[in-house]
Amino acid sequence: MATETRGRHPETRSGYFPVVDPATGEPFDEAPDRHPDDLDSVVDRAHTAWHGWRADPAARTAALLAAADAVEAAGPDLAALLTREQGKPLAESHAEVARTAARLRHFADPGDPTRPITDGRPVRSELRWRPLGPVAAIVPWNFPLQLASAKCAPALAAGNTVVLKPSPYTPLATRLLASVVSAALPEGVLTVVTGREPLGERLASHPGIRHVTFTGSAPTGRAVARGAAASLARVTLELGGNDAAVLLDDVDVEKIADRLFEAAFRNCGQVCMAVKRVYAPARLHSLVVEALAHRARTAVVGPGLDPASRLGPLNNAAQLARVAHLTARALADGARAAAGGHRLDRPGYFFAPTILTDVPAGSPVVTEEQFGPVLPVLPYESLDEAVEAANGTRFGLGGSVWGTDADRAEAVAGRLECGTAWVNHHAELSLAQPFAGIKDSGVGVAGGPWGLYGNLRPFVVHRLEEA
Ligand code: NAD
Repeated sequence: MATETRGRHPETRSGYFPVVDPATGEPFDEAPDRHPDDLDSVVDRAHTAWHGWRADPAARTAALLAAADAVEAAGPDLAALLTREQGKPLAESHAEVARTAARLRHFADPGDPTRPITDGRPVRSELRWRPLGPVAAIVPWNFPLQLASAKCAPALAAGNTVVLKPSPYTPLATRLLASVVSAALPEGVLTVVTGREPLGERLASHPGIRHVTFTGSAPTGRAVARGAAASLARVTLELGGNDAAVLLDDVDVEKIADRLFEAAFRNCGQVCMAVKRVYAPARLHSLVVEALAHRARTAVVGPGLDPASRLGPLNNAAQLARVAHLTARALADGARAAAGGHRLDRPGYFFAPTILTDVPAGSPVVTEEQFGPVLPVLPYESLDEAVEAANGTRFGLGGSVWGTDADRAEAVAGRLECGTAWVNHHAELSLAQPFAGIKDSGVGVAGGPWGLYGNLRPFVVHRLEEA
């Protein structure tokens, strides 16, 4: 990594691409722009390394625990670099690094999943789970380290090797992560490749890859699935979301407002399972709008490296343009900004935290994934209407229901068509639970044992027991 140039505005060298600081909009470093043809040797190396790595579960456990320790030891450097290229406040970067290490530790010892299978006949049949081979992990720019570990930890623990491709917007912290953990892992077990398209496309369709685990947008997920179909590699797709928060008529607005705001605006709203729409009973609508708008107006927006900043910039110019476009379109269609509604007049990709009201129900800011600091608050008359609207998009990642009577709220949560439904909070996951979207939010399961089995194949030994 060209660390010697960090902090200046280097001329990008041939074979490298620039990395932009979203707080300034200026390049501050560069990363290798790997040619897609390089993937043949990278995948070959991953295949060669696989034979040793798959053979020794105890060595894998020790290596992953050492990798977790190494990540923690490098925490300050990783967090600072993550904030510099991604934009999020430093405290959020530290939390992401902690979660990265926790995930490596969580999966380090998967135990022996060998199981006898009995069906009453005089045979002994035994299920032994086997790794798949080289896995391609392709991740987006919103949680580069956390999502890298969410993919790599279960894949590696299962005995696979991994070729990890970060987003070209956030290659640097991932490269540092790889250099930190590589001391603990044998050569070729984890390789990071950075570069611009068609690097990801070629990786997803590489014939030597046995599983493509992808996180990103639904259109790219479809392209990944088409590419992987060429070699019939397994695909796991964690895609976008448009999570609704449904507030019930007994909700204590002041009590939940901080939590609700955080669930929508953390990481500047660039969270797949952020609250992206709020449905409030008509009677409480203006109270909810004002509680959220107050928080939006008073949240400190600034560079992530400034400890005072509660919200950083958006990660990149294209995302800023998308958020600005969706907001302008809603305002043109008759919506009103109770807070924000515009980009900030300063360098970098800053957008004012925005609460929208009077939004037409079919407005793209409601039906699409805005992935930014803009939250529409929609009134409803009947609960059935609210549930129908919450379920009425092409996404199905998560959703939440908020109310003082938690049992009643949980009953309503059971009606949400999504992978995870929260009650009185949102976007909280334990490492042990499955995470799976439906509809355009994805295919396959991450998290807990399900995440592990997504990286294993069943192998059965079926033996006749002589009478
Ligand atoms: P994206 O789909 O544009 O890119 C994701 C990754 O795919 C990047 O590494 C990119 O370089 C690579 N890529 C681009 N074209 C490719 C191709 N044709 N083949 C293979 N790889 C290709 O997504 P993004 O803008 O980086 O991230 C934002 C999206 O990610 C949002 O939709 C968000 O909801 C989603 N996301 C989902 C989850 C989840 O767990 N469900 C988590 C985080 C983010």
